[in-house]
Amino acid sequence: MQKIAIIGAGAAGLMAAEILSQSNIDVTVYDSMPSVGRKFLMAGKGGLNISHAEEFETFVTRYGSRQHNLAPYLNAFTPTNLREWLNELGIETFVGSSGRIFPKEMKAAPLLRAWLHQLRSKGVHFEMRHRWLGWKNNDTQKLIFDTPNGEKLIFADAVILALGGGSWARLGSTGAWVSILRGQGLNVETLQPSNCGFNVAWRDYFQQRFSGQPLKNVRLIFGKFQQKGELMITENGIEGGLIYAASSKIRDEIFKSGNAIIQLDLFPDKMTDELFTKLNKPRGKLSTSQFWRRQLGLEGVKAGLLREVINVDALNSANLVCETLKALPLKLLAPRPIDEAISCAGGICFDELNNDLMCKKMAGIFCAGEMLDWEAPTGGYLLTACFATGRAAGFGVLKWLNEK
Ligand SMILES: Cc1cc2nc3c(=O)[nH]c(=O)nc-3n(C[C@H](O)[C@H](O)[C@H](O)COP(=O)(O)OP(=O)(O)OC[C@H]3O[C@@H](n4cnc5c(N)ncnc54)[C@H](O)[C@@H]3O)c2cc1C
Repeated sequence: MQKIAIIGAGAAGLMAAEILSQSNIDVTVYDSMPSVGRKFLMAGKGGLNISHAEEFETFVTRYGSRQHNLAPYLNAFTPTNLREWLNELGIETFVGSSGRIFPKEMKAAPLLRAWLHQLRSKGVHFEMRHRWLGWKNNDTQKLIFDTPNGEKLIFADAVILALGGGSWARLGSTGAWVSILRGQGLNVETLQPSNCGFNVAWRDYFQQRFSGQPLKNVRLIFGKFQQKGELMITENGIEGGLIYAASSKIRDEIFKSGNAIIQLDLFPDKMTDELFTKLNKPRGKLSTSQFWRRQLGLEGVKAGLLREVINVDALNSANLVCETLKALPLKLLAPRPIDEAISCAGGICFDELNNDLMCKKMAGIFCAGEMLDWEAPTGGYLLTACFATGRAAGFGVLKWLNEK
């Protein structure tokens, strides 16, 4: 019986196992961690956003410059197909008001449990605490693993690498594979943080007073990007869904220019004129803070942010204050480290792979998931592409074995 090794027990690797388990093949999934799907489970902590229900034409555009590379795989496994597959697993899904798709139970654990049960019943083997180190003597069929019992040599007719990106290394995806594949002459784009926070040089007072506080209902403006949402002030800068959505553009600008200046509209539902009319009224005996609070409800972190960026002399100019409230400039100095990011950009270049996701320079070695060179915002796009490419790699192996 032909032996297939899948290395990486995340969304991509497990989906590849599912495809291969439908044929008469010996499939083993290896992972360095003591248990499977650690990042998948983490993704489910705040509600597992597994895909998105928007029009497929729009959905594909979320993969930016890599949409054309990913489109064939996403087309073969659309968000609708994903929901059908989950339904067959006994996992009901629903579409939230934002179009995001979630399992009804919100968590990843019930899904993973049902999935593993099914994979095991179809004969898929799992070998945990097996850290892949590379190939013996550059022979692509001989895999070296570090295990609790020392180094182990494993033979496989074909291999699927589904090793993940480089964020949240404690969940298993360390990105150590980059140097192994580069050592084989493969072109791998450096892994970069994606869906990440950014450093801001807060002054001591602001940092101590406001870190850990949410900044609600603001509009973030960066070039053509404009979106309303919520941010979180941190000790080092800013985090949160809104900044993640713009993070790839901001990161690229920082790499190009050394920093990036975003603008925040702290009153996205009010026009500048309306703010001005209120702030232009006589203040009487009220302090600046009391006047702002009374006229605009401006207080707390929003007032703190205004004071953080505006010149003291400008505080008495209703005009300047209003302009700043509608387009508060914030200088972002660097993306937060990759380990803190939700996902990563960079990875194996698509030029290195054929349409079945097999390495052109290494016959029988397939790649899938976040380790490929693409990125996408949060919203279910990450997992959907991991599932879709895992599936494509599984079918790619079957085709390749057949042709052999
Ligand atoms: C906090 C958080 C929340 C998220 N929420 C969402 C969400 O709601 N929706 C969404 O779409 N996406 C979300 N994501 C992103 C999503 O979880 C990932 O994109 C996806 O899980 C990646 O799947 P993968 O199979 O490519 O890699 P991974 O899930 O990272 O799996 C790779 C596996 O390879 C193993 N491995 C790595 N190197 C080796 C080695 N040398 N030897 C053996 N094994 C190895 C790892 O242990 C790991 O188990 C979230 C991510 C984080 C961190």
